[in-house]
Amino acid sequence: MALNLMLMGLPGAGKGTQAEKIVDQYHIPHISTGDIFRAAMKNNTPMGIEAKSYIDKGELVPDEVTNGIVKERLAKDDVNDGYMLDGFPRNMAQAEALETFGAELGKPLNCVINIHVDPESLMERLTGRYICRNCGATYHKIFNPTKVEGTCDRCGEHEFYQREDDKPETVKNRLDVNIKMNTPLLDFYKKQGILHEVDGNQDIDKVFADIKAVLDQIN
Ligand code: ADP
Ligand code: AMP
Repeated sequence: MALNLMLMGLPGAGKGTQAEKIVDQYHIPHISTGDIFRAAMKNNTPMGIEAKSYIDKGELVPDEVTNGIVKERLAKDDVNDGYMLDGFPRNMAQAEALETFGAELGKPLNCVINIHVDPESLMERLTGRYICRNCGATYHKIFNPTKVEGTCDRCGEHEFYQREDDKPETVKNRLDVNIKMNTPLLDFYKKQGILHEVDGNQDIDKVFADIKAVLDQIN
């Protein structure tokens, strides 16, 4: 069965970090709405310019824009044998839209992994996050630094950046916005019987081992 997966978790829970490992192991395309918006902002496209006004405040980009992007992406052939959504859906309207277009495309979600992390840890995770400018690999100043200082473990390049929306002022609003939306989504997928909870407070490799145990049952 194709693995049509969604990674759920509050900002900083470790979705991007685990997504890198899942891609290496299961070879399914990683679809991160946050990454798609950041690429559009970097290229100054009309969609990027619109998204920026929301992202800079830690608000959600409007559903019409976000749903359209994901629907278009899931229509492509490279996701016929599976996909991994990261950061979408983030509210019930998006979840319902995904139900509709996922079914229309014959690619309905069949597994949701919720990476749960105690909210108190998230501020520290987000404000210490840094990312390789070349390949997008994610690190943390204290919890997950590069093996060799200043060199990306994944691609060997030397330039890193910190996300604009990882500043403490924005992080607080992002967490508030996402915490509010999270509970109904969890209930929705629990009722469908496709929700799997993983403890994200553990170290990165242990979190991955727990995710792998879930995915190997489905795959
Ligand atoms: P998300 O994609 O859910 O926003 P990230 O994967 O970018 O989260 O992780 C947020 C920050 O926390 C990064 O700096 C990352 O290196 C770090 N991190 C990820 N998983 C863990 C973990 N299990 N323990 C400690 N730090 C982690
Ligand atoms: P992320 O990289 O997942 O932390 O997302 C960064 C920002 O992009 C979020 O704070 C939102 O402003 C925007 N974004 C990402 N995914 C979505 C989504 N599914 N719906 C609305 N906005 C989103």
